[in-house]
Amino acid sequence: MIPQNLIDKLPELKTPLYYYDMDLLQETLNAASNAAKPYGYHIHFALKANFNVKVLETISATGMGADCVSGNEIIKALQNGFHPRQIVFAGVGKSDEEIRLALEKNIYAFNCESLQEIEVINEIAGSVGKKARIFLRLNPDVKAHTHKNITTGTAETKFGISPLETELYLKQLDHFQHTELIGLHFHIGSQICDFSVFKALALKVNEIQDHFESNGVKIQHLNMGGGLGIDYKHPEKNPVPDFKGYFDTFNQHLKLRPGQEVHFELGRALVAQSGVLLSKVLYVKSGEKNRFAIVDASMTDLLRPALYEAYHKIENLSNNGNTGDILDVAGPVCESSDVFARNIALGTTQRGDFLAIYSTGAYGQVMSSAYNLRSPAHTLYSDEL
Ligand SMILES: *Cc1c(COP(=O)(O)O)cnc(C)c1O
Repeated sequence: MIPQNLIDKLPELKTPLYYYDMDLLQETLNAASNAAKPYGYHIHFALKANFNVKVLETISATGMGADCVSGNEIIKALQNGFHPRQIVFAGVGKSDEEIRLALEKNIYAFNCESLQEIEVINEIAGSVGKKARIFLRLNPDVKAHTHKNITTGTAETKFGISPLETELYLKQLDHFQHTELIGLHFHIGSQICDFSVFKALALKVNEIQDHFESNGVKIQHLNMGGGLGIDYKHPEKNPVPDFKGYFDTFNQHLKLRPGQEVHFELGRALVAQSGVLLSKVLYVKSGEKNRFAIVDASMTDLLRPALYEAYHKIENLSNNGNTGDILDVAGPVCESSDVFARNIALGTTQRGDFLAIYSTGAYGQVMSSAYNLRSPAHTLYSDEL
């Protein structure tokens, strides 16, 4: 997965280093577009997964839209080739300034998460003489069967508008003169590999649609969110997620009304496997029980293991894959959770070896911090090699 010319060049490169395989990114985008095409589904890229300019330019060039969760992401999307008409703005806590910005830039729609938010958008849109298109983000109470910190569609999470507020909203639809309800939005969680979860979502959405129709509300658009998972265990075997199976599941189970459009907001599935974090071993040391490889990357470069106990496959690129050392791989930051993996077979490992931490193209570099006043990781794209 790591080309030999990169391995040869590693001693000259500065680490930690995020390496992006632009060919794999393109292949993944093509696979997603081709799988969506027969059904006329629209794909929006969730910028929060990766907002590197070269990645965004590559994605916008495919004609995909953007799913933004802050005013700055809207600006970033517009600067990097996404059309305002293809931008949706989600998030539980949109500030007044961000709402104003989104209206000024004429983005396509707001995904709204509370009644009060709709009131505020309605008021601001009225004050600038515009009508805001909105989706209601509903909480379908479908379990994602993924890590609790990336589950978003059950009743107890902060996301989505509750059934109670939805009923209140429907009763006063006429009162909201400066907003137009154009669709329903759902996003139940992330890293979902079990397609039966998406089937359950589709069936739930059918019921919810019936309910809206019985209240005389016609739904033009459905946004099914993102959440398609990737293979963290075997990135080399499954570099491209099963987009066809994913879209087929919705096509099979979602009951569409004539002319209805369906949108998806994929983040991880589009970019994760294209990124690899490369790191140098600084020290190898023996503890009371474990042996440690202390590397120059840390939780400030890749937070997922510390934040979600996430697994990333790690390989030693310098020892030809021989068997040998069982090691914990840890970073330099002063936190016990700054560990990338425990008890993994890395082969004979020594100071100066280079490790590859795979599947880090999504929710990797974007979660960087300066904690411990650390410098940001370097970046290299395959087409610059
Ligand atoms: C994070 C997020 C996504 C993307 O999720 P992935 O699991 O990366 O596909 C889509 N929609 C919303 C509202 C999100 O918050």
